[in-house]
Amino acid sequence: MADQTPTRVNRNRRIILFPLPYQGHINPMLQLANILYSKGFSITIFHTNFNAPNTSNYPHFTFKFILDNDPNDQRYCNLPLTGMASFDRIFVFNDHGADSLRHELDLEISKKDEPPVSCLITDALWYFTQSVADSVNLPRLVLRTSSLFCFLVYSSMPILHDRGYLGLANDNTTVKQVLAEFPVLKVKDIMKMGFKSSTDAIGGVLNNMVKQTKASSGIIWNSFKELEETEFEMVVRDIKAPSFLIPFPKHFTGSSSSLIEQDRTFFPWLDQQPPNSVVYVSFGSTTNVDEKDFLEIAHGLVDSGQPFLWVVRPGYVNGSTWIEPLTDGLVGKNSRIVKWTPQQEVLAHKAIGAFWTHNGWNSTLESVCEGVPMILSPFFGDQALNARYMSDVLKVGVYLGNVWHKEDIANAIRRIMVDNEGEEIRERAKVIKQKLDVSLIKGGSSYESLESLVSYVSSL
Ligand code: UDP
Repeated sequence: MADQTPTRVNRNRRIILFPLPYQGHINPMLQLANILYSKGFSITIFHTNFNAPNTSNYPHFTFKFILDNDPNDQRYCNLPLTGMASFDRIFVFNDHGADSLRHELDLEISKKDEPPVSCLITDALWYFTQSVADSVNLPRLVLRTSSLFCFLVYSSMPILHDRGYLGLANDNTTVKQVLAEFPVLKVKDIMKMGFKSSTDAIGGVLNNMVKQTKASSGIIWNSFKELEETEFEMVVRDIKAPSFLIPFPKHFTGSSSSLIEQDRTFFPWLDQQPPNSVVYVSFGSTTNVDEKDFLEIAHGLVDSGQPFLWVVRPGYVNGSTWIEPLTDGLVGKNSRIVKWTPQQEVLAHKAIGAFWTHNGWNSTLESVCEGVPMILSPFFGDQALNARYMSDVLKVGVYLGNVWHKEDIANAIRRIMVDNEGEEIRERAKVIKQKLDVSLIKGGSSYESLESLVSYVSSL
């Protein structure tokens, strides 16, 4: 990991960070907060009570819980705590959160006994915060927790809508058609993102996200220039707000902000496995499968003949608490199923030979950071774009998708773990990791990007 020694320790400037309260968004925001703290800034975190991280892991930050404090406020406090409906908070808080946030920011700005606030950094999906920050004259920077490529696709949503690519039926013959604007994508990738129009509820959120990100005072990306060279050039050319590309996992892990308890009991077993022999399987914090597909995945893993470490989140299998549908003895001594892991530590382990992933951006980038080749099974949203980019642009993974058949699964694992094809994919993953490591050295793109972010924020 990069040097984490504070370079300015007087902490005479303060930054307020406000993550979206979901695992894939909390982790990168708190990694960024740790990076900025290591550069000498004082840190205040605004957070909802919903999905609050364990604050005792961050004694160096000040936490302030906002928006859903009042149990009688029907707008915020009756929302589902789990499942896809828990994401309704994105709509509700964006629609109703402005006055409350303005009040909290006014309080922070007027504090005389704390360092002055330089800026607010919010998740890009908190688009309501731009006008609030403007109204209190506080610069707002955005943390975009997915790739530059994904942002460019979202920016083009109105065009893709006009061309009729959104909302096509599954059996439509155009699904294999390549998109003129993004030749690496097929219509089916756009369909997989899961919204039917650029003006439906999700399309509306994404349009607002794009608009208010472009209107911000700066964009921080959890990425690096060498990973998305072409997209970086396009973003710099087309967006006025300055961009800063920082690969967070190379500075801090997301472990301290885990919302689920991490199992570590499998490490002695993992330590005994030969190098590059184990397939690590995790589909992130939000996906679900039906029992039939779960069993197909289990059989595919067993039939591949490779040892595996499989994360099955409680509630991942629809209708089950955990792994009850599995018959005893199916998963032999050679493999492990766990509820949650310290994922970056697992990916950095020498025994891990491949990562079968849903391609959430954090998981994707964590794999890239450790040079681990991937088996790509995107479920929805930006995962479809991340997977396509990894398989067809960078060629560091085998695209499997999520139509679950045990033969295809065992086959994909063998292709990446055993075949010559896997050797080439592994080599490319290693080369990208080497480029990343070089980018972190003084004079390298990631190093310089972080330095410019620090100077920029200090100058605000
Ligand atoms: N994660 C983890 N342990 C696990 C599985 C996932 O710590 O067993 C972390 C992972 O390292 C990543 C985050 O959870 O930082 C998931 O974010 P991602 O963007 O990959 O997917 P999401 O959960 O948002 O779909």
